[in-house]
Amino acid sequence: MIHPSKVLASLDARALKSLGQNFLVSQSSLVGLEKYFDIQKPVLEIGPGLGAITEYLINKNFRVIAVEKDTKWATYLKELFKDSLSVMNNDFLELPSAFFKDHKITQIMGNLPFYITSDIIVKVLGEPNVDIFVMGIQKEVGERLLQERGNSLALFVKAHGDIVEHRAVSKNNFFPVPEVNAMWLIWKRNKKIENMPMFEIFLRGVFWGKRKNLYSVLTKNPFFRDVGETRKWDKNIMQMQADLSRLRGDQLSFEEIKDVFMRLTGEKPLVEGA
Ligand code: SAM
Repeated sequence: MIHPSKVLASLDARALKSLGQNFLVSQSSLVGLEKYFDIQKPVLEIGPGLGAITEYLINKNFRVIAVEKDTKWATYLKELFKDSLSVMNNDFLELPSAFFKDHKITQIMGNLPFYITSDIIVKVLGEPNVDIFVMGIQKEVGERLLQERGNSLALFVKAHGDIVEHRAVSKNNFFPVPEVNAMWLIWKRNKKIENMPMFEIFLRGVFWGKRKNLYSVLTKNPFFRDVGETRKWDKNIMQMQADLSRLRGDQLSFEEIKDVFMRLTGEKPLVEGA
């Protein structure tokens, strides 16, 4: 591949900070990542930029559908790869669910624009047919997602599947060189969610307030009080008061949070093996 500094210079272009553009200077960190994908199915690439990942996947005979917000690079890639690539000039966050269904998208990869990493993760995991997500993210964010407790996004990720591999990538693999190192995380869906919408509400709510126990959170967090459905839990909250008063959301693992949720809602198991 051509070094991004050369591509940018030849087109008199700059990397846009506002779109989180730090382009891969080599494909070495990608080697082996393709083993997670089914060659029979397309791979959706988020933010292809100058096409380092796109080229790598196409050379491995994958059918790639790329979604790039920057018109300049969407146009560039169309010319570069011609018929071997479908490029869409869109904001990934605005793609409707129908898009994923129509294109039978089950596997996604992207060196993510750091300013919307969490939004992208939430959107991807919310698409029920997507079962593999290979994401390049900032190392610190990756480390938080690997935490067993204390981070609501990590628990959200865990509620849908597991991180099956992570690999560090030095910031020197990008141009312009970002301030921090990066990481590849491979996430696989392996859970079937019975009542995810309420569990998501629960997860978002329990991290409210510093050092608050779950009883305070459940009775005082205005967020819970605003969601009428959670009123159904009131009787169980009272009955579980002693237990809930000893627990803090930020200290609980996914399994522990899941147990509390199931006792609270009195519902059937939240998660079953996929
Ligand atoms: N994949 C390329 C690589 O690894 O060299 C570029 C990665 S760069 C970190 C992020 C890419 O995402 C940029 O090309 C940027 O223009 C694009 N991008 C930023 N926001 C986006 C959005 N909302 N939807 C789609 N692409 C976006």
